[in-house]
Amino acid sequence: MKKLKDSDYDIIFSYLEELFPNADTELHFNTPFQLLVAVILSAQTTDKQVNKVTDKLFQTIKEPQDVLNMGLKKFEKSINSINLYRNKAKYIYKTSEILALNNWEIPKTEEELIKLPWVWEKTAKVVVYVLYKKPVIAVDTHVHRVCNRLWIVQTKTALQTSKLLEERIPSQYKLIAHHCIILFGRYQCMARSPKCENCRLQSLCLYFTKNHQKKCLK
Ligand code: SF4
Repeated sequence: MKKLKDSDYDIIFSYLEELFPNADTELHFNTPFQLLVAVILSAQTTDKQVNKVTDKLFQTIKEPQDVLNMGLKKFEKSINSINLYRNKAKYIYKTSEILALNNWEIPKTEEELIKLPWVWEKTAKVVVYVLYKKPVIAVDTHVHRVCNRLWIVQTKTALQTSKLLEERIPSQYKLIAHHCIILFGRYQCMARSPKCENCRLQSLCLYFTKNHQKKCLK
């Protein structure tokens, strides 16, 4: 398996930073609780769809007590265009009840966050990364795909990628890696028909090399 050199990481991240300067989450939020809700809602749903719902919802829901005041049924109805909305509503409501017993504070560590209902490792990492600027890298389908194409990892599942990624990415890039790679995967290095023609990472890319070879053999 090819092992990337430090200079390869420099090439990758200088390109990604150039493409996506000031890369940030595309989820809309104003309070830490709203971010937590948005990240929970975004499981198996696009950020665009989540924003469509939360742009209206967050006019009312700013803190956990607002969810409790609204009541489960009404809250469920307000997110019913989101995938798995019944479960998500139930667990966000439950989370609000737990936070009520905890002075309404959003936990600051991954370990505490994953004790909340429907908060998985990926959700917890996004929350601590975005809110508290911790150098962790949440792995979604885009991060998994891009990192495999660029030889950062060679894994079959996102879980395997997640286990390896934080030790592979050099520390100076950890604070930008998550958002840069997600945006790259969303807008350039898509699963189908990635925009390879003008990509400056062709020489480092397994996907490009394989497809280029196939074209040459035709
Ligand atoms: S060459 Fe294509 S597949 Fe490879 S990183 Fe660039 S856009 Fe992605």
